[in-house]
Amino acid sequence: MAKLVRGFKDIIGAQAEILTELESSARKIFKLYGARELRIPTVELKELFVKSTGDSTDIVQKEMYAFEDGGGRTLALRPEGTPGAVRAYIENNFTQAAPVQQFFYIGNMFRAERPQAGRYREFEQIGAELLGNAAPAADAAAILMLADIMKEFGVRNYGVKINSLGCNDCRPAYRRDLINYLSSGKETLCEKCKDRLERNPLRVLDCKIDGPRFAAAAPAQKLCPACAEHFEEVQKLLRGKIDFEIDNSLVRGLDYYTRTVFEFRVGDAAQNAIAGGGRYDGLVKSMGGPDIPAVGWAMGAERAAAARAAAEPKKDFIVYVASMDKTCNEIAFNIMQALRGAGIAAQGGLFDKNIKAQMKQADKCGAAYAVIIGGDEFANNPAALKNLQPGEQKRIMQAALVETLKKI
Ligand SMILES: [Zn+2]
Ligand SMILES: [Zn+2]
Repeated sequence: MAKLVRGFKDIIGAQAEILTELESSARKIFKLYGARELRIPTVELKELFVKSTGDSTDIVQKEMYAFEDGGGRTLALRPEGTPGAVRAYIENNFTQAAPVQQFFYIGNMFRAERPQAGRYREFEQIGAELLGNAAPAADAAAILMLADIMKEFGVRNYGVKINSLGCNDCRPAYRRDLINYLSSGKETLCEKCKDRLERNPLRVLDCKIDGPRFAAAAPAQKLCPACAEHFEEVQKLLRGKIDFEIDNSLVRGLDYYTRTVFEFRVGDAAQNAIAGGGRYDGLVKSMGGPDIPAVGWAMGAERAAAARAAAEPKKDFIVYVASMDKTCNEIAFNIMQALRGAGIAAQGGLFDKNIKAQMKQADKCGAAYAVIIGGDEFANNPAALKNLQPGEQKRIMQAALVETLKKI
């Protein structure tokens, strides 16, 4: 039998529809902020991700879907959107012609993680990249854009955490402090963290095992005056518009972040992040472009959808049309089409089955109402309108059906 590849999933019906709804909400907000769509390829040279996402990250070290193509090139399915977006920005010469750009993308990403509950190897991300603006206003706008999408889509049960990672001037001293602090408890670190302590000490604070034990007493980031001023200004612009919390242990899992980083979480754990991002002022240059600042974020679409579905499960209004006997089939069919024509979702038409089987199907498809044509009083033109939840039924003239259902 044909079988789904482990770690992948089919997205069907309501699960697909909620994603489409999220995409529409995002597009609406992107338009208000002036962000334009960027469609980038699914496949890039593997090297692109090694150099940008960072070779000390889990994504590049363990989770990348890399393969060799027929021409002997090593390619990778994109694990995230930013490297491709920045490549496209540089390669299409925006850096010279029009460096101030706001892009958004909606697309599937791939990570070859060990399959586990709720984690898939292919997932959808919606992301934004604001390029060419070093001002704190860009950081604040990026965060508020994301909050507006959540609001438009209907996710309310989340918290926003922000932090500043500093810049090339002030980060090295912080790294040293952090390595010293963590080294004192080195034997107790998990294997992964022992290994990355020197290379990427920030990630230890992010670790599921070690983070909670070490984060609270970790040395505070000492920002240089320019970084401190930038971070203060970002907070000032956010105050009164959204609730947020400063979290010095927030580091994000990628190498390229500088200054502001942020995360939107449902619940408190880092694994519950539905979106996150930050400033990446050095990335464009490190990828071969000029020295151009940028800030961006990405949202896990499935996670955002799950957050909303959990908060307010929504039921579609469907009317099921059934026919009692052959002589009514055509009228029943015409009523079904008339309902659709009037903007009411209608299902049915299973007229070769008896009425019991048809009503069973009405139940299965989650219909709120059933319209039953035929039976005793059919000659005088009534149809039976049955509310499928409490189950009461009333007779009604066929001609009044559409108007009655519209009112409901
Ligand atoms: Zn600094
Ligand atoms: Zn660890």
